[in-house]
Amino acid sequence: NAEPYLGARLQRAMDEVGARVGVGRYDEARYLYATPMFATGQAPTAEARTVHLGIDLFAPPGTPVHAPLDGTVAAFADNAAPQGCGPVIVLAHRTTAGSFFTLYGHLGRESLEGLEVGRRIARGERFAWIGTPEVNGGWTPHLHFQVVADLLGLGAAFPGVASPSQRELWKALCPDPNLVLGIPADRFPPPEPSKAETLTSRTACLGRNLSIAYREPVKIVRGWKQWLFDEQGRRYLDAYNNVAHVGHCHPRVVAAIRRQAGVLNTNTRYLHDLVNRYAERLCLKLPEPLSVCFFVNSASEANELALRLARAATGRRDMIVLEAAYHGHTTSLIDLSPYKHDGPGGSGAPDWVHTVPIADTYRGPYRRDDPLAGARYAAHVAAVVRALEERGRGVAGFIAESMPSVGGQIVFPPGYLAAAYAAVRAAGGVCIADEVQTGFGRVGTHFWGFETQDVVPDLVVLGKPIGNGHPLAAVVTTPRIAAAFDNGMEFFSTFGGNPVSCAAGLAVLAVIEEQGLQAHALRVGERVLAGLRPLGERFPLVGDVRGSGLFLGVELVRDRTTLEPADEEASYVVNRLRQHGILLGTDGPFHNVVKIRPPMPFDEANGDFLVATFETVLEELA
Ligand code: PMP
Repeated sequence: NAEPYLGARLQRAMDEVGARVGVGRYDEARYLYATPMFATGQAPTAEARTVHLGIDLFAPPGTPVHAPLDGTVAAFADNAAPQGCGPVIVLAHRTTAGSFFTLYGHLGRESLEGLEVGRRIARGERFAWIGTPEVNGGWTPHLHFQVVADLLGLGAAFPGVASPSQRELWKALCPDPNLVLGIPADRFPPPEPSKAETLTSRTACLGRNLSIAYREPVKIVRGWKQWLFDEQGRRYLDAYNNVAHVGHCHPRVVAAIRRQAGVLNTNTRYLHDLVNRYAERLCLKLPEPLSVCFFVNSASEANELALRLARAATGRRDMIVLEAAYHGHTTSLIDLSPYKHDGPGGSGAPDWVHTVPIADTYRGPYRRDDPLAGARYAAHVAAVVRALEERGRGVAGFIAESMPSVGGQIVFPPGYLAAAYAAVRAAGGVCIADEVQTGFGRVGTHFWGFETQDVVPDLVVLGKPIGNGHPLAAVVTTPRIAAAFDNGMEFFSTFGGNPVSCAAGLAVLAVIEEQGLQAHALRVGERVLAGLRPLGERFPLVGDVRGSGLFLGVELVRDRTTLEPADEEASYVVNRLRQHGILLGTDGPFHNVVKIRPPMPFDEANGDFLVATFETVLEELA
């Protein structure tokens, strides 16, 4: 029941401007209508009736309602139900062109006493009163006033809200009630741009290579937990966004940011306890000797810094990276990201970047049936290390996501990172774990992805989920590497580690812990895997189902022998799921891996819904 909150907020807003009556708008999509009464289907993402067809006038219960026009009572009823419209009266008005109706909802029950259909009501006559929440359906006291051209025989059961897909039809039947009320136009905020207008202005003023998800773009205006809401009030299940780690708009994180932003936000050249406390808490989550933090604003910056640290620690330049890897958008990181420099618009790897096969046991040269796959993939790393030494250069470092995400939601074979790290370290290089996608409990079995491989990196790079969407990123390293970096040149990031960011980061760590999100991710992930795996038996298209916790991938192939990537099919699946209200993406070098990586509150029921809908879409494809 949102009434007490809504009522208090409305009252505050009215008090601030000294308004006696608050106005709720016509043709406005609202997120309030959440009960089954407003749903148009069983699915949690089914369209709901969200578009308001009347104008609301918020005033205290008992406020009299006077007829704006001469009329007769056409219908009345007490639609008593939670979130219903309570006592309703409909008046009919005759004009030379025919009749039309005005509808009054959420009235007090006394308004219906002794009322009869056909009774004449004169213009200006007091004929009703605003009801209390006890009788008006549980709403903040208000009058719902609606103009209706044709009652469609529905009488007092005529709907006050419509589904977005039928918006134009219902608006034609129910014109703007302000035609009767005459509230000055300047009392209304300017209309929001339509989705089409948003798209046009974006295309005009933002770079074109900033892509837009889905064939039919989505305009999202609200987030809550694992749910996103579009401008029409439609709800989507977010099964893709790992940034909103503890859930979109988690109140604890929002409050922490808001509180600190109202007290102080400045740089880290002053002493402040939050940055220290956050660094301490973060280091507590990491194994020894990872105990020195550097804070920046994005994972790209963090990887860039990790690269500098690796070079400072080794005095070398050359880096080893996995095929199809992505580590960030800066110049050096495009060089270090085969996914970019080997893709469209790219110009290949520079001479300091050495690419090794990604340890993909589904598609790569060594497969799952080979117990030595991990060692064999690691041998490629050792070979690059040797070749560099033979050229007298030596390796600065090896960088890998602990489970490559852009690479296609890859789970390394056992022993891979341990052997790769050993080869790099034996040659004096350092090992960087990019935990931007896998960190903070997402993989379920462990808090960090690298722990699944039983290794301890020299540098850990954190981003995306770290601040639940607040721009924050970090490099955590060893005292030895940090000391080597401390060569006289100052390290400073204006925004990095500011008190607001640290407040956000601390809140995220606290929520993960208190809500047991890592164990939750493991439980829900196991259930989703168990639901998806049998799809592989029914549909030849489903080549592989893999992942850990809430970091999952479904690889689609046209042929199980050649593993021909089913990229168009993957795109079809993702776009169809979007139509069903489930947001997912594709990844992998061939864009044929459907990636499931939701906010961590994603639960069992969401997982079951995802699996069932996935199956429906696969049936269409079959
Ligand atoms: N590393 C990995 C593994 C990533 O997935 C990303 C972003 N997709 C980055 C680094 C770069 O992060 P950002 O866009 O926050 O700079």
